[in-house]
Formats: sequence, C-alpha cells, structure tokens
Amino acid sequence: MIIKVSHIGIAVNSIDAMLKLYIEALGLKLAGTEVLADQKVKTAIIPVGESKIELLESTDPEGPIAKFIEKKGEGLHHIALEVPDIRAALAELKKKNIPLIDIEPRRGVENTTIAFLHPKESKILLELVEAKK
Ligand code: ZN
Repeated sequence: MIIKVSHIGIAVNSIDAMLKLYIEALGLKLAGTEVLADQKVKTAIIPVGESKIELLESTDPEGPIAKFIEKKGEGLHHIALEVPDIRAALAELKKKNIPLIDIEPRRGVENTTIAFLHPKESKILLELVEAKK
C-alpha cells in the first residue's frame, strides 16, 4: 500500500528564515513555493533524495498551522506517505476502523491528492499522498 516517505512536514513561523538553513547551509535546492489558500498555508518544497521536506507557514493567524505553532511551537507537523491510489487506501483504512480526518481526498501541493489520518491512532499526524499521474 505504501510506496515511500513522500515528505516530512515542518511547521515554521517563517519559510524565508528557514531557507537559510536548508538551502544555504545544508546545500539543498528549493523546488518551489505554493500557497494553498483554502488551507491558509504557504509551503516550500525541498527535495531530499527520494523524499522531500515541506515547510509550512501560516498565511492567517486563524489557520491550522498558526494554531499548531501556538499550541506546540515550531517543529515536526506531519509525515506523508505516498500511496499509488489514495481512494483505495482510504477505503482500506476505513474497513480496518482506522480513524481518518479526511474521508474524501483533497488537493495538496504540486497537484497531489492528500488525506490525513487522525493522530489518535498514529500518535503523529500522518498524511497519505497520491502523486499526480
Ligand atoms: Zn504534507
């Protein structure tokens, strides 16, 4: 069901401030930034081999990332696992009674489709990603 770790999502106050570390100091490359207006978040994607780091900066003080940082501080927000077929994966998890945040997949960055599992089962927020075909 799982292909690989797609990306690791990190909640930060400022993407620009973090690029000093990831791009200048660690020598990684910025693939791009994207705003998901409906999710009140700006993202920066930094490929790391087969996987990526996804920096998440809130675009709204009421957004989910702003709320997360307010409660837990900046840091690890979620781990995303790539699946070949997100609808099939969600149906299988539902059958196994795994609690889900998203029953229906929604749009993620880079034209992916994503869905979050509920952290009460996984202890960390897990995201499923189906890459664009
Ligand atoms: Zn993500």
